[in-house]
Amino acid sequence: MAGSGTTWEQLRSTALACTRCPLSEGRTQVVFGVGDPKASLLFVGEAPGRDEDLAGEPFVGRSGKVLDRLMGEEIGLTRAECYIANVVKCRPPQNRNPAPSEIEACRPYLEEQITLINPAVVITLGNFATRLLLDTTEGIGQLRGGVYPYGAGRLVPTYHPAYVLRAGGEALAEMRADLVRAKRLLPPRA
Ligand code: URA
Repeated sequence: MAGSGTTWEQLRSTALACTRCPLSEGRTQVVFGVGDPKASLLFVGEAPGRDEDLAGEPFVGRSGKVLDRLMGEEIGLTRAECYIANVVKCRPPQNRNPAPSEIEACRPYLEEQITLINPAVVITLGNFATRLLLDTTEGIGQLRGGVYPYGAGRLVPTYHPAYVLRAGGEALAEMRADLVRAKRLLPPRA
């Protein structure tokens, strides 16, 4: 992969042409990410769904509406003011979970994005992003509620918005609390 000295645009164009795993065969578009590559806050989700594959942008479906609402209400940011990426950049067929080999193939893109963005806070959304970045097999139910060191910054795990949509109630309140926890770790805005 790219390695040191890679620019954002080089990384993006490499990813957009990627054929490192079979997900490339079924995709409409690579969903590289959206937002400000200089943001202090990075959200990491799982993988694009149908809406995202068509739009070429992460979290534009129902889960995305929840994410946009909660980031606005609890952190006071829009998606243009943070960065949103996924563990896997191409849609798995029938919205199945990404396979370990697909996660491994795609991992250098996310790692390079994180290096280049250098966020103060990473919020992982659900099991896949949290387990990958914390290098653990523990579940989000055990890990959320905490703050973890991550590179020069911190990592705040929370539920995937699709889970919050299904579970509602307490899960929604817990996700709100996680975002408030993350907000407190962000540098003051200029
Ligand atoms: N779920 C994700 O994890 N990512 C998206 O981009 C959309 C839905």
